[in-house]
Amino acid sequence: SECLFCAIASGDIPADVVLSDDDLVAFRDITPQAPVHVLVIPRAHHANAADLANADPRLSGALLRAAGVVAAQEGIAESGYRIVTNTGEGAGQSVHHIHFHVLGGRDLAWPPG
Ligand code: 5GP
Ligand code: ZN
Repeated sequence: SECLFCAIASGDIPADVVLSDDDLVAFRDITPQAPVHVLVIPRAHHANAADLANADPRLSGALLRAAGVVAAQEGIAESGYRIVTNTGEGAGQSVHHIHFHVLGGRDLAWPPG
């Protein structure tokens, strides 16, 4: 109820959705860090990737698959893209509902900061 991404998943807060099914929603990041910056989230609330994988391995697989579908839809599957999930404050996680960032459309530095 007080989770931002639960509210986006339910449609209570609008988002620019690019992919949606019974399990998950993918939508454009409100502050894009690359020409393509999409967030892929499960409809069910899990705090981070480890919690999700422990609670629902099938759903974690579905999320990873969706990230690849988004990359193909956005035309960055060939040029290259990055899937990122931050866990914890030190890594910069600001929304505690697991999300995969799908980033591409420009050259991406490695290692990330
Ligand atoms: P984190 O910092 O937790 O890894 O990523 C959270 C992401 O959510 C950030 O990239 C931020 O720009 C994005 N974000 C925060 N609030 C909203 C919102 O209301 N709508 C959308 N589309 N993205 C948001
Ligand atoms: Zn949530």
